[in-house]
Amino acid sequence: MYDYLIVGSGLYGAIFAHEAKAHGKSVLVVDKRPNIAGNVYTENIEGINVHKYGAHIFHTNNKKVWQYITQFAEFNRFTNSPVANYKGELYSLPFNMYTFNKMWGVVTPEEAAAKIEEQRKEITGEPQNLEEQAISLVGRDIYEKLIKGYTEKQWGRDCKELPTFIIKRLPVRLTFDNNYFNALYQGIPVGGYTKMVANLLDGIEVRLNTDYLERKTELDALAEKVVYTGPIDAYFDYKLGTLEYRSVRFENELLDKPNFQGNAAVNYTDRETPWTRIIEHKWFEFGKDENGNDLPKTIISREYSSEWKPGDEPYYPVNDEKNGALYAEYKKLADAEPNVIFGGRLGEYKYYDMDAVIASALEMTEKHFD
Ligand SMILES: Cc1cc2nc3c(=O)[nH]c(=O)nc-3n(C[C@H](O)[C@H](O)[C@H](O)COP(=O)(O)OP(=O)(O)OC[C@H]3O[C@@H](n4cnc5c(N)ncnc54)[C@H](O)[C@@H]3O)c2cc1C
Repeated sequence: MYDYLIVGSGLYGAIFAHEAKAHGKSVLVVDKRPNIAGNVYTENIEGINVHKYGAHIFHTNNKKVWQYITQFAEFNRFTNSPVANYKGELYSLPFNMYTFNKMWGVVTPEEAAAKIEEQRKEITGEPQNLEEQAISLVGRDIYEKLIKGYTEKQWGRDCKELPTFIIKRLPVRLTFDNNYFNALYQGIPVGGYTKMVANLLDGIEVRLNTDYLERKTELDALAEKVVYTGPIDAYFDYKLGTLEYRSVRFENELLDKPNFQGNAAVNYTDRETPWTRIIEHKWFEFGKDENGNDLPKTIISREYSSEWKPGDEPYYPVNDEKNGALYAEYKKLADAEPNVIFGGRLGEYKYYDMDAVIASALEMTEKHFD
């Protein structure tokens, strides 16, 4: 008999498992996928750590989380500085002095601020849709070239038909600073995320290709308590209805050349290009293999926004009223399960960045074990 059965070997499950073991508990981890690490899974192909479920850049201001996770991996100095490609014109992101210089030829912050101010005036009353909201914040040029097409592809709708609340703020930097995340700590684990999660799970029994919900009775009988990090609605057999997600589709390509786009992330901000962005994975680790050698090939992933339907990989929870209310009902059922802890992005139907999911798992283990 195990003390804990942990369903899911993503960050939440792996951290819970590690802490339980460290506190002398016996643990069994099961995952329905053929690999550990959940959505942060990286697979080494041609010496390149490919982020299989989307690009993952670790960033946090939480010192405790940083000190914790760096016990399991060394992080490199990767800084996220995406580039926007609008019909072949390249712009620096997030919006900063490099962007404004390229857009208008302005040189000083005063000139850039004056240009934005002048263009914002186009909207006089209360913005009625996302287009008006964006123009009222940063002006028409930035909206047309860097926001419109990208947003329309992401939502599959015209910006004039989207509500204003989707964009509350559009930070503008009047400095030459293209570090996307304003985080104190940032980087990519050297050797990939999978290795980091394997270190968390060191010495712990893991059964892959094991769907808990298909074998619930048999697996429940093995442990005193269950930590469940799968979808909360699936746990209850969707009896109150299905929670919705937004999805992304990835198309990976191995290219026989050393450098495709010279940056990890390039956003395609026109409406005509069907993909929203291209990730070139090798640049997360500066184009080198684990021995520091230059890699001769490259792997790119084109990302497409796609409608989610039941059975698809769940990516981003939809934080609208309908789904929020349905989750609240499922949460009541979850709270009534005495021996089950629901955690992580699917168990709590919540968008968590990696640092937030680590913080949440640590908080839960502290409550439990300390
Ligand atoms: C496209 C995308 C990009 C992201 N980029 C970033 C980023 O750049 N930076 C950042 O900080 N965060 C990013 N995130 C967030 C990050 O992925 C999450 O914080 C993290 O993966 C959450 O870990 P988790 O353990 O909660 O969930 P998961 O990683 O999803 O783990 C859940 C696990 O449970 C397993 N499971 C589910 N059901 C069952 C079942 N019935 N039986 C057995 N096993 C089951 C699954 O197979 C999975 O392995 C991104 C998320 C997405 C979707």
